[in-house]
Amino acid sequence: MSTATTTTSRSEIAIVGAGLIGSAIALWLAKHTTYSISLIERNPVMSLPHQANQRVVALGALATDFLDDVGVFSSLTSEHCNPYQKMFVWDENSDGELAFDAANIDQLCLGHMVDSQMCTYQLQQAVLNSRVSCHFDVRASKLELNRSGASLDTDLGRFDAKLLIAADGSQSWVRQQAKIFANRKSYGQRGIVAKISSSKPHQNCAWQCFLSTGPVAILPLSENQSSIVWSADNTLAKQLMDMDDDAFGDALGSALQGRLGKTELLSTRQSFELSSLRAEQYYKRNLVLLGDAAHSIHPLAGQGANLGFKDALVLGGLLANSKASEIGSPRLLSTYQARRQADNNQTDALMSALHQAYKFDLPVWMLARGFGMNSINNSSILRNALARQAMGL
Ligand SMILES: Cc1cc2nc3c(=O)[nH]c(=O)nc-3n(C[C@H](O)[C@H](O)[C@H](O)COP(=O)(O)OP(=O)(O)OC[C@H]3O[C@@H](n4cnc5c(N)ncnc54)[C@H](O)[C@@H]3O)c2cc1C
Repeated sequence: MSTATTTTSRSEIAIVGAGLIGSAIALWLAKHTTYSISLIERNPVMSLPHQANQRVVALGALATDFLDDVGVFSSLTSEHCNPYQKMFVWDENSDGELAFDAANIDQLCLGHMVDSQMCTYQLQQAVLNSRVSCHFDVRASKLELNRSGASLDTDLGRFDAKLLIAADGSQSWVRQQAKIFANRKSYGQRGIVAKISSSKPHQNCAWQCFLSTGPVAILPLSENQSSIVWSADNTLAKQLMDMDDDAFGDALGSALQGRLGKTELLSTRQSFELSSLRAEQYYKRNLVLLGDAAHSIHPLAGQGANLGFKDALVLGGLLANSKASEIGSPRLLSTYQARRQADNNQTDALMSALHQAYKFDLPVWMLARGFGMNSINNSSILRNALARQAMGL
């Protein structure tokens, strides 16, 4: 809710962007610190989504514990949040297979499939009911970074803060205004998301097949429905988007090699450009980047939002353990950068390597790929270590 003023608002911390990560850190800071906090979002407050969204994020334990800590996890019903116990990954062009099971690492589940729209809605509702000063539907026009903090000029007036957190997504306006360089690489692919049903039960297993045109992932939801993320080269993606619903369902069933039986569309399809982005630095003076504003990666292992929650936990922890006079200090912000940038870049590099590895269908390469996957699958130590890593344990 906007405070409709043209005066200057001052807070110790201002956050730009009330998406998943911006809303989440605002709530965390409101709970664990006494800093005054403003949250500034360009869109109006989200209204209650009437239909389950096509787009789902697979969240590991670190992210769901975060949501639980800020009191939002329990507001997600089974329709919008489904635990999954297994994951099965295979290669279209070799006999390579990988199977993960939560029971093998003494966990109840590997993670949760969470409706990203409903999760953001619940986070925004919680933040509106917290002590955070919320300003939705606000246009920022100018950013100034100076010794004492950051100032944001908007159509509602000026926001001054000792620390400005940019959580405004991969196209980050704040990052661009601050002239922080970000390296963007397009994959030449689009990710198609939709909701489907299948004639064979998904068994609460996340299925992922690596095709030479990109991976297709089935994210299990309640009542034997699933959300899909089908990453495909631009030309194929266009063909898939142009197909009628029946033809698309058939194409998906074949891509999955019949493992889930006949698949049917339950929603419209949406497609997103897939690219990787790495900010060269995570802070500049009193400005710090968080979530997709700092990094965005290929969704093939469902890690983007998970990395954002990790950022939020590290930055939040540093802020909670600092004196108010230190919140925008280079010491604190460089510690955050040191703890997060390498991890995020490594995950991005791994996604790019995986993306490349499955693009080639030379026979020798396919054999090596199958051998590699089966070797991991046959080693319970390696397989379980990978599962723990993906869960954020
Ligand atoms: C197809 C696909 C599938 C994915 N699947 C997964 C998955 O399974 N698991 C996973 O962990 N991640 C997944 N991701 C990644 C995940 O969706 C993102 O990492 C996450 O949503 C980023 O959240 P964010 O809050 O950083 O940015 P965003 O969600 O982009 O939010 C940014 C917010 O800032 C606001 N904003 C923008 N500009 C301004 C401005 N100038 N002023 C004020 N506000 C502004 C926007 O309106 C928005 O509310 C997937 C991504 C894609 C594309």
